[in-house]
Amino acid sequence: MTTTRALTVPANGGSAVLAVQHVDVPDPGPGQAQVKVAAAGVNFIDVYQRQGVYPIPTPFTLGMEGAGEVVAVGEGVDDVAVGDRVAWAMHQGTSAGLANIAAAQLIPVPDGLDFKVAAAAALQGMTAHYLVNSTYAVQPGDVALVHAAAGGVGQLLVQMITAKGGTVIATAGGPEKLAIAERLGASTLIDYRSEDVAAAARAATDGTGVHVAYDGVGKDTFDASLASLRPRGMVVLFGGASGQVPPFDLQRLNAAGSAYVTRPSLAHYLLTRDELLWRGREVFAALADGSLELEVGGEWPLEEAAAAYDALEGRQSTGKLLLTP
Ligand code: NDP
Repeated sequence: MTTTRALTVPANGGSAVLAVQHVDVPDPGPGQAQVKVAAAGVNFIDVYQRQGVYPIPTPFTLGMEGAGEVVAVGEGVDDVAVGDRVAWAMHQGTSAGLANIAAAQLIPVPDGLDFKVAAAAALQGMTAHYLVNSTYAVQPGDVALVHAAAGGVGQLLVQMITAKGGTVIATAGGPEKLAIAERLGASTLIDYRSEDVAAAARAATDGTGVHVAYDGVGKDTFDASLASLRPRGMVVLFGGASGQVPPFDLQRLNAAGSAYVTRPSLAHYLLTRDELLWRGREVFAALADGSLELEVGGEWPLEEAAAAYDALEGRQSTGKLLLTP
């Protein structure tokens, strides 16, 4: 047993509730590895958990994602060994100096790939990977609408879709964010604060509409996503940065052209260790060889985590935000 500094949520609420506290860390149990955390990722799911939208009994340690070095292993662990460089994306309670994590959830980080890049890419990178390879498998010639294209997931989606020979119609709030999407490969840019998204998406596709709309903004963009589809197109609603989409009349799918809507989650696309390693290794390999680029849009010590979440929730950020324990 030892102790560590951890970013805790003593009670549900806004970013002001966040506190750094010393918490006990038991020796790693069976199947667990103890990791010295080098960098931790800031994600929207942390916000939902802090607010109590995804309920967790308080107090709890925040954070799902990070990277670091294995410093101890529990009984029966053979997936990793002490000294291994690892990353993880879906283990709640890891924004701390030390964390015990199920070894089966750890992804090897290649030598030469910085811990910060690995921490920044784990959750959002595997999310973009499953969205373009598995939820809707993008084919050459496909046209995709990507909302919040300068955000963490958005920047990766733009690059992965164009790498597959797809065309991206990007939305974002303002010219600076749209310029990021354009540099990464988007061919049509829509400022959704001032433009009619569906009309612009149709104009960019000779009136036909898009094959797929990747929508992590949710409440404010869902109707436009549906209205942008070509017949038999798909809305992939993967988040609700602006709020959750209200209940939905299925008849609207018919009116939209026999459309499909899915609401996927990363956990359901990491069902086996093989699936985790496939997605994690492909993302890390692409980062290591430079075919995928990742913007770290800000980095804060644990004590200043509230500022990181304020930036994310306040639409001030681009790319990925990190905490350093
Ligand atoms: P981003 O970096 O994309 O930040 C969110 C962006 O959404 C903002 O920068 C902003 O961009 C846009 N936005 C539009 N309206 C709002 C609003 N009212 N409040 C806040 N932001 C708004 O975040 P992430 O990349 O971390 O996450 C993007 C989405 O993906 C989230 O909904 C998240 O929950 C989801 N997600 C889903 C996963 C899954 O498996 N289903 C896994 C990981 C993330 P702009 O200024 O350009 O409008």
